[in-house]
Amino acid sequence: MAYDLIVIGSGPGGYVCAIKAAQLGLKVAVVEKRATYGGTCLNVGCIPSKALLHASETYSHAAHGLDALGIEGVTPVLNLAKMMAHKDATVKSNVDGVAFLFKKNKIDGIQGTGKVLGAGKVSVTNDKGEEQVLETKNIVIATGSDVASIPGVPVEIDEKVIVSSTGGIALDKVPGHLIVVGGGVIGLELGSVWARLGAKVTVVEYLDTILGGMDGDVSKQFQRMLVKQGMEFKLGAKVTGVEKAGSGAKVTFEPVKGGEAATIEADVVLIATGRKPYTEGLGLKEAGVALDNRGRVEIDNHFQTNVAGIYAIGDVVRGPMLAHKAEDEGVALAEILAGQAGHVNYDVIPSVVYTQPEVASVGKTEEELKAAGIAYKAGKFPFTANGRARAMLATDGFVKVLADKETDRVLGVHIVGFGAGEMIHEAAVLMEFGGSSEDLGRTCHAHPTMSEAVKEAALATFFKPIHM
Ligand SMILES: Cc1cc2nc3c(=O)[nH]c(=O)nc-3n(C[C@H](O)[C@H](O)[C@H](O)COP(=O)(O)OP(=O)(O)OC[C@H]3O[C@@H](n4cnc5c(N)ncnc54)[C@H](O)[C@@H]3O)c2cc1C
Repeated sequence: MAYDLIVIGSGPGGYVCAIKAAQLGLKVAVVEKRATYGGTCLNVGCIPSKALLHASETYSHAAHGLDALGIEGVTPVLNLAKMMAHKDATVKSNVDGVAFLFKKNKIDGIQGTGKVLGAGKVSVTNDKGEEQVLETKNIVIATGSDVASIPGVPVEIDEKVIVSSTGGIALDKVPGHLIVVGGGVIGLELGSVWARLGAKVTVVEYLDTILGGMDGDVSKQFQRMLVKQGMEFKLGAKVTGVEKAGSGAKVTFEPVKGGEAATIEADVVLIATGRKPYTEGLGLKEAGVALDNRGRVEIDNHFQTNVAGIYAIGDVVRGPMLAHKAEDEGVALAEILAGQAGHVNYDVIPSVVYTQPEVASVGKTEEELKAAGIAYKAGKFPFTANGRARAMLATDGFVKVLADKETDRVLGVHIVGFGAGEMIHEAAVLMEFGGSSEDLGRTCHAHPTMSEAVKEAALATFFKPIHM
C-alpha cells in the first residue's frame, strides 16, 4: 500500500510531523531504527537529562539549601541507582507515550533502518537483515544528529571512562573528578548534575566564554554562579589529546593564544563539543539529495530538498539543534504537505539551559544587535530587587530586555534566574505578536512573582523600573 508520507526518524521532528500529518488526514508511516520512538531527545537527550537535573538539584537543595529556611538536620543520602531508575522510568513513560499517539493516529511504526531509494521509495532493513521497499508520495528525512568529535583529535569514546552525553547520563557512580570538554549547554547541564552529586568538575572550553553565542552579560554572570557552585573553568583552552590513563583518563590542552600545554587527569571525561547532522547509510548521495558544506541536508524555505517529494527537518538541517525547533518544523511541513500554509518563525525560538539557576533567551543578543548595526535600548532588572526571589532565596540573576531604539519593538530577552525557562515564554509570545517593551511593561503581572522582573526590565527600557 502506498503512503502519503514516510518519515525516517522518530525524534521530536519526525514524530510530531507524523502526528500532525495524520491529524490532517494523510496516511503516514514512521521508520525508526532504535527500539523505541522519540529520538535522541526522549531516549538519551532532553528528557533523561532533565530527570537527572531535577533529581540532582533536589538532592543538592536538600543538602545545602534548607538550613537558611529554618529546616535543619536534613542530611540526604544519595541512592544513585534509584535516581537512574527514576530517569529510566521517565524516559519509558515518554517513549511509550509516542507509541500510544502513533496508534491513536493510525500511524504505522516500522522498526528498521530507512534508506531513500529515490523520490517515492524507501527501503527498510530490520534487525534480522530483512528488507522491504515501501512506496510513498512524500519522504521526510528526520534522522537528527550524532555526537561530534573534537576537530583534529582522535578520541575513543567507551561510554564508561571517556563518555559522550549518552554515557554521561548513565554513570554507575559519582566520579571523583569529571572533566567536561566543551562549555556549551549539554556540557554545563551534565557537569552540573555530577557537581551537585559531589564530583569535582573541570570544564575545558576553546572559547573565552561559556555558552558561546549567548548574550555576553548572561554568560559572564552565569559562569560566576557556576564557579560559586564549585565548578572550575579552563577557558581559551584548545584540547589536543584525550586518552585513557590508569583507571581514568587525561586531557591535554594548550592556550588558544599560544603558550605551554597542560595535562589534567580525571576519573571520567565527558566529550560535549557539539553534535553533527546524522545522514549515515541513508543513501542520500545515490538518491541525488544535496548536502551543504557542513553535512546538513540542504532545504528550501518549505523544507524541500533539491529532489521533489523529499523533505528534511530538525537537527539534520540548518538552524539551532533544539527539540522544539524540530517539532515546529515538523508541524509546518505537515501543514504544507496537507495543502495548508506552514511556517516557522526562526526569530522567536527560545533556548533554555536547565541548570540552577536556569538561563533562558529568545531573540537577538546585544552582540548580534551591535554587529548588525541596529540601534537598541536595554533594560535590566536584578532578582535581588524582586520580592518573590527574596522569599525563595533565589536572588541570583537578572532579566535583560532589548528593544528597538526607534520603534520600541522587543528584539531579545535574556534571563538568568530561578524559573527562567518558564518565564521566557511571555517574551516569546510578545515577540511573536511584534510587541513593544511598553506593551510588556504595562501588562499587569501577578505579585509576588519572579515574572515581575520581566515587567520591570521592560519598564527600564523606556522609563524607569519601580522597584530599583
Ligand atoms: C544530552 C542532550 C540533552 C538535550 N537537551 C535538550 C533540551 O533540553 N532541549 C532541547 O530543545 N534540545 C535538547 N537536546 C537536543 C535535542 O535532543 C535535539 O535537538 C532533537 O532530538 C532533534 O530532534 P530530531 O527529530 O531532529 O532528531 P533526533 O531526536 O536525533 O531523532 C532522530 C531519530 O532518527 C533515527 N534514525 C536516524 N537514521 C535513521 C535511519 N536511517 N532509519 C531509521 N531511523 C533513523 C534515530 O535513531 C533517531 O531516533 C539535547 C540533546 C542531548 C544530546
